[in-house]
This record gives sequence, structure tokens and C-alpha cells, in this order.
Amino acid sequence: MAQQYDLVVIGGGPGGYEAAIRAAQLGYKVACIEKRIHNGKPSMGGTCLNVGCIPSKALLDSSHRYESTQHDLQVHGISTGDVSIDVSTMQARKTKVVEQLTGGVAQLLKGNGIDWLQGTGKLLAGKKVEFTPLELTANDVQILEPKYVILASGSVPVNIPVAPVDEDSIVDSTGALAFEQVPQTLGVIGAGVIGLELGSVWRRLGSDVVVFEALDSFLPMADKALAKETLKVLTKQGLDIRLNAKVTATECKDGKVTVKYNQAGEDKEQVFDKLIVAVGRKPYAEGLLSDDAGIKLTERGFVEVDEQCKTSLDGVYAIGDLVRGPMLAHKAMEEGVMAVERMHGHAAQVNYDTIISVIYTFPEVAWVGLSEEAAKEKGIEVKTGQFPFAVNGRALAAGEPAGFVKFVADAKTDRLLGMHVLGSNAGDMVHQGMIALEFVSSVEDLQLMTFAHPTLSEAVHEAALAVDGRAIHAIQRKRK
Ligand code: FAD
Ligand code: NAD
Repeated sequence: MAQQYDLVVIGGGPGGYEAAIRAAQLGYKVACIEKRIHNGKPSMGGTCLNVGCIPSKALLDSSHRYESTQHDLQVHGISTGDVSIDVSTMQARKTKVVEQLTGGVAQLLKGNGIDWLQGTGKLLAGKKVEFTPLELTANDVQILEPKYVILASGSVPVNIPVAPVDEDSIVDSTGALAFEQVPQTLGVIGAGVIGLELGSVWRRLGSDVVVFEALDSFLPMADKALAKETLKVLTKQGLDIRLNAKVTATECKDGKVTVKYNQAGEDKEQVFDKLIVAVGRKPYAEGLLSDDAGIKLTERGFVEVDEQCKTSLDGVYAIGDLVRGPMLAHKAMEEGVMAVERMHGHAAQVNYDTIISVIYTFPEVAWVGLSEEAAKEKGIEVKTGQFPFAVNGRALAAGEPAGFVKFVADAKTDRLLGMHVLGSNAGDMVHQGMIALEFVSSVEDLQLMTFAHPTLSEAVHEAALAVDGRAIHAIQRKRK
């Protein structure tokens, strides 16, 4: 007879495994079904740990050190001689980091008494779950009858017919994390988060990188001032970002790929060693639901859920990339925990208004809350303050003067609405804005706080002061 579970989670990504752990903490008997094989072994942690957040950050870190060692040390009086990169060592380090973390998640599940069922889960009618193990034998298929189910099967890259991924010349993000050599020339379709992060990795290591973006605006979801400065900085670094450039065809021949594209009405073409397709991700529900499972999907293939991640079926929740909202690991994690708290009768909630976005280029790009443009679109009378790192003592001491901190606030109430940062440590700094937003802070609250000197965070204080024309280390005409 099959084991009785209170909760079965389908998908062991950041959403699924965190949900499983929280449920076990609350005393539930939990199984987490995960089918992923990575480097020949069953692997926990989903896209994020295996082929997403973690390996991309490992390569971003290695490539940043390489570039920085080449260019940033002479000014300190440090000479290094010739600097070289051994790509296979870099990749081996990435693999080690991934294995450390995926192994750690498996240990966490075990330590919490959670059964990792290695194989595929499918929701059937009546909230039953069919589990098919990786090593399939007819007898091994089990039908589980848990009280609750969480669907957490994540997402996969979007494919476009004009650039079919062959995992050789044309790759998606997974392939782009695994190059064993630095391509001399690299094309990237899509100037989104993946295009900019992975484009930066290979540019730093020596590739000539061209990024094709179909839209005529850069990072349209970001505050305009932030997007404009980011484009300037990344372009100066050597990323050739071509806006309004629609790829119309690709042709692979003799180990090269020709990209045909139309930019502002003109047909052009260019040949690359490799091409990365990074045009977004889509929810992954293949084989997840039987026809009569009773779960509603949206037109775009997301599982339909309410604010608390409840599906149309009682006792079944769906979370993470499989449902509406930004496709981010931290959003998936919080939804997983919220779903479990809700099924346990706790009043948990995810605040979708304070989900942070970070692009881990160098400098990093990060924001939380409303952009100036979004606030204005909502009809809010807005006031803003901006402060550059170029006059921040710590940024200058570190030789990292690029970027700024910008606040957007309600001009009538002084309520803080958004924080936007371009800077070496923006991904961490932006958490100050998130906490302020969560506590419904006014700009004055931030103005009245004492920030340690010398820190990058002093730019946060100065940007808050700048909202009212009071920044100390800037000459501001506005007086108050
Ligand atoms: P996933 O992580 O996709 O996990 C779902 C898991 O379910 C998968 O392992 C899959 O094998 C399994 N599964 C699917 N169907 C079944 C089934 N029927 N039975 C059993 N198992 C199944 N986000 C950030 O916040 N920060 C970043 O820096 C970041 N970097 C990224 C870099 C890259 C290159 C990519 C591709 C993504 C990145 N993301 C980042 C996005 C992040 O990885 C996702 O938002 C996150 O992994 C979503 O978590 P999830 O739990 O919803 O799904
Ligand atoms: P994205 O949505 O960030 O960017 C895709 C870009 O491709 C957009 O700018 C879009 O206009 C463009 N595009 C779409 N079709 C195109 C076409 N045919 N030709 C040219 N350009 C085209 O998607 P992504 O970069 O693939 O990332 C996927 C998801 O992964 C994102 O939702 C993101 O949240 C997540 N992710 C997050 C991080 C992070 O948090 N740092 C890192 C990587 C990925």
C-alpha cells in the first residue's frame, strides 16, 4: 500500500522545496516529487539551483574577477602579469557550487523527514497524484491520495521558430551556461535579464557580443532613468545592444550561425560562433495534469490561482513560475511558504508590490516598488530624488563610481513608492527600500535616519534628502 501523505508537492524548485520544508516544520507528512536529472544524477533545486540563478551567478562572479583583475588593479599599484582564464576550471567550480547547493537541499528534505520521490508527478481527478519513478517499472507507479497538493513545476525557455535551439550553435540559457570555450563572436536574442547577465559573462571573458532586442525601448519595465543609465554603462563596457532589431531568420553552417535581422526597417545579417535565445520563459505543465484533474489554465498556460495561490480545486495550490507574476525564485519561495501557511489556517500573504527585481550585471541593476512613470500612470503626483555614487566616498574608494540611487515618492503624502539603484551592490542595497516600503515609510523617515560612514548606503540617505532638495553632497537648486 502506498505511503499516506498529508501534502504532495510536485516540483522541487525553490517554490516546491521551501513549501515542503515549511509543511514538515508544521508537522505534515510530506512528499516532494522531482524528476530532474542533472549531470547524470537526480537533482533537487529546480531551474534556480541547477540551470538558473546559482550557476549564472557563479559564472558572473568568475568572469567579473577575470575582467577586474585585468583592468582594475594597476591603479592600486598591483601588477599581475598576463591574466588568463581556464574555462573548464571555471565551469568545474560552477558545477561544484551547484552540487553543493542541490545536495544541501536534498539533505534538508531528509533532515525534515520529507520523502523525495524521484520521478514524475501527475494530478488526477479527485486530487489523487500519480507518481511514476525515474526508473520505470509498471508496478512502481503509485497513486497517492494526499489531503493537499502543491503544483510547483516551474517554467521552461520560450522557443522562437526563427532560431530553433540545437544545443550546438544555437542555445538557450542552459546551453549558454555550459560553453566549454569562449566564443569569439556571440549573438544574443533578447535584451532581458538573461541576455544581459549571460551576455556580460561571455563579453567579460573575451567574446564580441551583439544583443538583438525586438522592442525599441531598453528594459521597459524599469524606471526610465535607471534603464537609460544602465544602457549607457553596459554599452560602454562593450555590449553591443541593438534595439528595434527583429531576428527574421537564422542559418547554421560550418559551425557558425548567420543571423538575419531587420533593424528599423533595414534588413541586415551577421555571422556568429554561437547564438543565445533568451526571449522569455513560459510555464511548464507538460504531463502535470490529467484532462479531468479539474485545474483551470489561463490562455498563456499558467495555472489559474487567486492571491493566496489557491487553484480552482479545493486543497490544491499552485506557486512560482507556473502561476501569474514575475518569474523569480524569491517570489516562488514566498508563495510556497504562503500556500502552506494558508492550508494550515495561518493568515500569510505575499506582498506582490514589494517584490524586488535585480539584474546581476556589474554594476547591478535593482528596483522595488513603482517607477516614476508607473506612479504617474496611476495618477499620483510624484516627487523624486536621485544621488550618484560618483560623489559617494566609499564608492570612490572602491573605484566603483557608476550609477545612482533614486527614490520615487508621493508628493502629497511623502509616502515612499519606489527605489531604483544602479550600483556595484544594488541587489543588496535595494532591500533597504523594500523594508521601507513594507513599513509604509515616508521619505522623511529615511531622511531622519543615521547611515554609517563611509558606506554605499549613504547614497540611500542622500537620495532621500534629494527628494526635498536637501542632499548635502550635491548642489541642489530646490530649497526647503
Ligand atoms: P523551478 O525552479 O523551475 O522548479 C520546478 C521543478 O519542477 C523542476 O526542477 C522540474 O524538473 C520539476 N518538475 C516539473 N514538472 C514535474 C513533474 N510533473 N513531476 C516532477 N517534477 C516536475 N530568479 C531569481 O530570482 N534570481 C536570479 O538571479 C535568477 N536567475 C536566473 C537565471 C537563469 C539562467 C534562469 C533560467 C532563471 C533565473 N531565475 C532567477 C528564475 C528562477 O530560476 C525561477 O523563477 C525559479 O526557479 C522558479 O522556481 P519554481 O520553484 O517555480 O520552478
Ligand atoms: P525577459 O522577459 O527578461 O527578456 C526577454 C527579452 O526578449 C525582452 O526584452 C523581449 O522584448 C525580448 N524579445 C522577445 N521576443 C524577442 C524576439 N523575437 N526578438 C528579439 N527580442 C525578443 O526574459 P529572459 O531574459 O529570457 O528571462 C526569463 C525569466 O527568467 C525572466 O522572467 C526573469 O524574471 C527570470 N530571470 C531572472 C533573473 C534575475 O532575477 N536576475 C535572471 C535570469 C532570469
